[in-house]
Parts: sequence; structure tokens; C-alpha cells
Amino acid sequence: MARSEITIDLGALRRNVKHLVEVAGSSEVWAVVKANAYGHGAADCGDTALGAGAKALCVATVAEGLALRRELPDPRIIVLGRSSNREVAQARDARLELVVSDDIPAEIPVHLKLDTGMGRWGMSELITPDHNVVGLMTHFATADDDLDFVRTQLERFLAATEPHRHLTRHVANSAALLRLPEARLDAVRCGIAIYGLSPFQRDPADDGLEPVLSWQSELALVKQVQPGESAGYGRRFVATEPTWIGIVPVGYADGFRRDLTGTTVLVADEPCHVIGTVSMDAFAVQLPGRLPQGTHVTLVGPGVPLEVHARHAGTINYELATGIETGSGRARRTLFYS
Ligand SMILES: *Cc1c(COP(=O)(O)O)cnc(C)c1O
Repeated sequence: MARSEITIDLGALRRNVKHLVEVAGSSEVWAVVKANAYGHGAADCGDTALGAGAKALCVATVAEGLALRRELPDPRIIVLGRSSNREVAQARDARLELVVSDDIPAEIPVHLKLDTGMGRWGMSELITPDHNVVGLMTHFATADDDLDFVRTQLERFLAATEPHRHLTRHVANSAALLRLPEARLDAVRCGIAIYGLSPFQRDPADDGLEPVLSWQSELALVKQVQPGESAGYGRRFVATEPTWIGIVPVGYADGFRRDLTGTTVLVADEPCHVIGTVSMDAFAVQLPGRLPQGTHVTLVGPGVPLEVHARHAGTINYELATGIETGSGRARRTLFYS
């Protein structure tokens, strides 16, 4: 096998999107596939999401939009992030739609972004929409925990956009779709949830979601360390008794971060701790006993979800998922439909 294998279950993605379409009711679901679909593969995930009822795809940059357009000639593709003047011309040729926080470019569909409290992109006062403005939007700062502030942002948005309610108004991300029905408006922009990951860093099953990505490897080497011997840089693990350890050929350059030392992976379905320091190309696990070289290791999957790894690393599943390396050929990526 390759050093590691990432498996993308497009059947799970399809079920997640269908579920979200149902939750969204009369508002459209737009699938957010920025950052290579949060590390899951933008073209495959985008295509599957559209087949499951999503009405448009959202990316972060014009470059992402152009790459996606080469694979998918038909769907609406909305660029959520800023674009330079040169990119506007490319976006026009590729039939992308742009989100704009200041000057409105001509002859391309545009969504105006209002800053209602995120304190990042977006105009503070809504300008009068030109005829090429198709949508009005804002983005929530706290949809995963502080719903009171979300309601404040929503009220500001609704008040400012009331005169233009004939335009498509969209504000909700995954968390707002799942927790605040009044934020659904005309369309919702769902990212994390379509990948079966929890915007609340909880068990995704609580919200009817199934993880799409799993990550497998194997024990490349098995050995016994004696008391006083260590594993990895910095000697952060030192054996106090004869201990069987396994070396897994995955490290932080693959996206298995250095701060995942101490988390749990499954070795032949048994939970085992990652010990020592995760290095660039390998990490060590403590084994219950001697196991054969080549024994299956699950880094991410049932029993070892990204939410638990993220808590361990002091971050969120978004950051871990987008950090899993898929571009350099270190990991093999396979798709299937369950
Ligand atoms: C990334 C993004 C989303 C999707 O957020 P999730 O929490 O992943 O659902 C929605 N809207 C905007 C503007 C974004 O940048």
C-alpha cells in the first residue's frame, strides 16, 4: 500500500447533502467546496453534492473557481473571497459569480457582502445594488456557540436589506442552518456539514451527519524498546518497561500534526496511543503486544473521529481536514459510494 490511503465515501456525502436539503426546507443549499472541499476533493464532492440537490457551489478564490469550472461546465459557482481586477476578467470568462465588499464590477453576477459583526470582509453600509447584483449576504461570527449574537447580526442584515428583498439573501453556514431556522432565508452556504463533520465539534451523528473521509495506514515497522529507551525527537516518550511500539509512515508533512502526540488511533481496531513526537514523515504508537508488520492502522474513521483529534490538538475539525495533504501524492486517495 501507499504510505497512507485517504478514502472518500461519496455515498455518505450524498446522504449528508440530502439531509441538509431536507432541513433547509424551501431555501436552497449551496455546497461550499473551498480549500479542495475541506481536503475531500472539490470536483468529486461538488458534483456529488449537486446530484444530491445542492443548487450551487461556493469556493474561496477565483483560482479555485477556474479549476472547478474546468471539471464542471454547468453549475453556478460563487467565489466567496476577494478577487483582484485581473481575476474579475477571468471570472467573467468562466461564468463565475463574485462576492464584493466595495466597488461593483460590471457584466458579472455579483453578491454584495455586508459586515454585520464578523469584523472581516464586507461593507459597513449597504450600497444601492446595480442591476448585475443577484445576491445579498453576510457571514456569522458565532453560529457555533453564541446564538444571541447571531440573532443580532441577522436583525441588522434583515433591516439593511429589506428594500431589496427580491434579491437572493443568504447568511447561514452549517451551524446556523442546523440551529437557527429563521436564518435560512433564500439559500444556505453549507461546508463542514456536507463532509459529515460537526460545526459544533461534537459527534456528527447528533445532527444526522456521517463522516465522509477516513484515513488508513499500516505498521511499517514493529519493535520492542527497553526501559530507558525512547521514541522520536526530544525523547518525549521513554519506556519504563519493555514496550512494543509500531512506526506508522505518516507525519506532519502528511497533515498528521505534531500536536496529535498522545491522541488515539486504531491498530487492528484496538485503540492505541500516539507516543513520542510526531515527526515529518512518521509517528510511533504504543502496541498492546507484538503485532505483525503491515497491521492495519486507522488514523481517522469510525471510533477515531476528527472531532476527537481536534480537541486533542487544541483546534477544530476544519483545520485538521483542510491540512490533510492530498496534493503531493504522499497519500493515495480512493473514492467509493456506500
Ligand atoms: C466557509 C464559508 C461558509 C461555510 O461554513 P461552514 O461552517 O463550513 O458551513 C459559509 N459562508 C462563507 C462566507 C464561508 O467563507
